[in-house]
Amino acid sequence: MSDVSRRDFMVSAVAATVTVHSMTNAKAAFAGNTQTNPSRPVVIASGNGEAATKRAMEMITAGKDTLDAVIAGVNIVEEDPNDMTVGYGGLPNEDGVVELDSCVMHGPTCRAGSVAAIRGIKTPSKVAKLVMDRTDHVMIVGEGALRFAKAHGLEEVNLLTDRARRIWLKWKESHSDRDDWLPPAEVPDDDQVVGYHDYDWTYGTINCCAVSAGGDISGVTTTSGLSYKIPGRVGDSPIIGAGLYVDNKIGAAGATGRGEAVIKVCGAHSVVENMRHGLSPMEACLDVLKRIVDTTTESRLKRKDGKPNFNVSLYAVSKRGEYASAAIWSGATYAVNADGESRVEDCAFLYKKPGKGVTK
Ligand code: ASP
Repeated sequence: MSDVSRRDFMVSAVAATVTVHSMTNAKAAFAGNTQTNPSRPVVIASGNGEAATKRAMEMITAGKDTLDAVIAGVNIVEEDPNDMTVGYGGLPNEDGVVELDSCVMHGPTCRAGSVAAIRGIKTPSKVAKLVMDRTDHVMIVGEGALRFAKAHGLEEVNLLTDRARRIWLKWKESHSDRDDWLPPAEVPDDDQVVGYHDYDWTYGTINCCAVSAGGDISGVTTTSGLSYKIPGRVGDSPIIGAGLYVDNKIGAAGATGRGEAVIKVCGAHSVVENMRHGLSPMEACLDVLKRIVDTTTESRLKRKDGKPNFNVSLYAVSKRGEYASAAIWSGATYAVNADGESRVEDCAFLYKKPGKGVTK
C-alpha cells in the first residue's frame, strides 16, 4: 500500500471506528467509570520526558500524590537549561524575554490551576499548583502571576540563558532583511554551538500525566511556548481542556505542538471525552488530530497538498492504565513509564513526514 493510500485508509478507519465505538461501547465506558479493580500504574509524557516519567513513577510507587509526582517529574525539565522549550533556558518572545505557560489538574479532587505568560520563575508548574491550592482562581497571568509566585517565596531569576539570548539574536538579525538589525559580517567561530533551527519559529513543551494503582489521575503541562512569539501570546499549554485535561473517572490527556490548533478543538478535553464514549486512548487521539486537520482552513497553514504544515502530538492514558500517543506527522516520540521501566516510543501518526518544512 502506498503512503498516501495507507494514510487515507488509516484516517477513514479511525473515522469508522469512532462511529462504531461511540454507539456500541457507551455501556463499556460506563462500566469503566465505576471499576473497583486496581489500575495499572502508568506515567506518560512528551518525548523530552523520559526522566520525568521515571521520577514521577518513583514517587507514585512510594505512595505520593499523583499531582506532586508529575510536577516533580517536569521540574527536571523546567530547571534544565539545555531543554530550550520549557522553563529556564527556554527560547524567548520576539523582545528577547522568556514567558512561560503551565497548568495542572488533580483528578481526585477535580481541581485545576494555571499560569500564563509568567516571567522570571523557573518552575511555572509549581506556581500553577499554588494557584490551585492557595487561591479561589484557576488562572493567573503575566505580572500578577509573577507577584503571586514571589508572595509564595519563589525566587525571581533571569530565565534567558546566554545560549538562548544568542539564538534569539541570530533570529532577530536574520529573519527579515527589511528591518534595521544586521547579522555579523562574519559568522562567529562558535556558531555551531549556538545554531538552532535555521532561525525558524519552534514549538516544544512537556506534558506529563499519571495514573496510580489506586486509579487516581493527575497531569501537568509546562512550556516556554512558541519561540519569538508576540509578547503576551498564550498557547494551549496553560489552558485547561486544551493542553491538559484530567477526569479521575476516565483518564487524562495532554498536547504539544501548535497550540493555536489545539485550542480550537479543545484538544485534551476532546481526547478524554472520546475515551468517555468508549474509544481507546489511540483512537481518541487520532480522532482529535483528524479534527485538527479538518478545522485547518487557512492556506498559510497548509502545504500544497492541503495537509497542515505544522505538527501536534496528543498523549492519553485511561483510568485502567492503557496509554497511547499520536501526532499529525510521523517522527514524533513520547515517553512512558509502565511495567517497571521508562522508555521512549514512537507516536502513531496520520501522515508520513515528507521531510523539512513542518516546524511552525
Ligand atoms: N503547545 C505549545 C504552545 O503552543 C508549544 C509546544 O507544545 O510545542 O505554546
